Amino acid sequence: MSNEILNSLLKEYSQKKLDAELDLEKRKQNLYKLIPRLEEIDNELNNFAINTAKNILNNSSNNYSINNLKQKIANLKKEKELILLKNNYNVDYLKPFYECKICNDTGFILDNNYKTTMCNCLKQKLLDISFNKSNMSNLKKENFNNFNELIFSDEVDLSKYRFNISPRKNISNIKNKCIDFINNFDNPDYKNLLFVGSTGLR
Ligand SMILES: [Zn+2]
Repeated sequence: MSNEILNSLLKEYSQKKLDAELDLEKRKQNLYKLIPRLEEIDNELNNFAINTAKNILNNSSNNYSINNLKQKIANLKKEKELILLKNNYNVDYLKPFYECKICNDTGFILDNNYKTTMCNCLKQKLLDISFNKSNMSNLKKENFNNFNELIFSDEVDLSKYRFNISPRKNISNIKNKCIDFINNFDNPDYKNLLFVGSTGLR
């Protein structure tokens, strides 16, 4: 997998994240006009967050003031939820709508050991790309269920076909070998398959 593909996927991700955040900003501004109390609550919550951070940095907080602040934040969040529900909005309406709720469209997550790992959504995208590149994306259409041996001649002609069996019999044998191979895929003693032929044959 080349870095180029990963880079372009990461660019796509940061655009997706940005779009979700811009979309949230639009929804926020529209809703603030309709329900000004929501803007007040969000401003208060932002101020609390800044004050909490300041208190922690200055080490000037005691347990009482921290608990007090936590209670105030919880009350404001509750009030916000109730307003949204009362006005027929989902409680998550004022949060960004990320495509992936696990990594918030960053493509990466922190695991239990605080190590950054790739999110499954990004892994899947990389797999899809390599799958398409391997020309195996048409499996729904191109599979053994649609295999039609009748399009091969059942004429036996050694000089024409270079086999003493008909092309139809030959292709049936090949198909059976392939099915055997699939059925024994996890058997280490089973031999590999090798397809040979001129370039472009399929
Ligand atoms: Zn993800």
